[in-house]
Amino acid sequence: MATIGFIGLGNMGAPMAANLLKAQHRVTGYDVVAAPLKALGEHGGHVAASAVEAVAAADIVITMLPAGPQVRAVYLGPDGIIAKAKKGALLIDCSTIDVETARLVAAEAAKAGLDMLDAPVSGGTIGAEAGTLTFMVGGEAAAFARGEPILQKMGRTIIHAGPSGAGQTAKICNNMMLAVAMIGVCEGFALAEKLGLPTQTLFDICSKSTSQSWAMTGYCPVPGPVPAAPSNRDYAAGFTAANMLKDLRLAQQAAGASAAATPLGAAAANLYQLFVDGGSGGLDFSGIMRLLRGPGAPR
Ligand code: NAD
Repeated sequence: MATIGFIGLGNMGAPMAANLLKAQHRVTGYDVVAAPLKALGEHGGHVAASAVEAVAAADIVITMLPAGPQVRAVYLGPDGIIAKAKKGALLIDCSTIDVETARLVAAEAAKAGLDMLDAPVSGGTIGAEAGTLTFMVGGEAAAFARGEPILQKMGRTIIHAGPSGAGQTAKICNNMMLAVAMIGVCEGFALAEKLGLPTQTLFDICSKSTSQSWAMTGYCPVPGPVPAAPSNRDYAAGFTAANMLKDLRLAQQAAGASAAATPLGAAAANLYQLFVDGGSGGLDFSGIMRLLRGPGAPR
């Protein structure tokens, strides 16, 4: 049984912490919002009054925060996790953040003699609840070996991607490819609709043809063919368009810094920006079908 400090108990962090409790670990949690702390207490976790208190006795510290600025705020500075964590503690940041921040925070941890992993996830809230997340992990091999058994309590697939920042690199590449694929699927279904080909017919053909993709067969953006997909519940998220836009911006930032050409990634970022600016940031990212279908299309 490990003593774990868990900071950031939002949509993802709360069910991840619950799975650690189920696995008999001792979890002390902290969030700036009160509601999830109450829920943690009801699951048998301990509630801390600050991040410092949550990490004081922890062998392992896990953070699941919105973005890079929150990660810097929580880890760095005289009252940050790095300054206050127990000697020998392992730090694991599961947030999706920019590669630069992941590398910087890990370097600061190393200066303080602490091991750190960047371990962003794929699988959404359903995967977080079921304990079936995929973790893509950056950091030293020895730190990965320490963190892997804990990550296995929250996920099914745990992959060591390479040194610090490699987990975040894999995550932003994955989400950029997913966004481009999703937009492509939406365009195909919108065109078929204009040409009078029924959605189900196109799905039956393309799901067995060369255009097959997870965006189509696992998460179809048009209602009907995939009953579990958000398109069947008016695009209630799932994974929000605002979060997809955040990840596409991270990918564009990294592409700029490394002089990588990502023309479709840039186009995807612009399309999601338009979608979010139109007030749809809270919808599932597959809801971009509405933008591509145009305003006159059936809902
Ligand atoms: P969320 O906004 O629901 O949760 C973040 C939590 O962090 C909130 O409860 C917030 O109050 C807390 N927080 C913010 N600043 C804090 C601070 N300084 N100290 C303590 N707590 C603080 O977000 P989420 O959906 O849980 O996502 C978390 C991360 O996981 C994001 O980086 C997101 O991109 C990534 N992610 C989300 C999904 C998904 O489907 N939701 C999937 C994969 C990855």
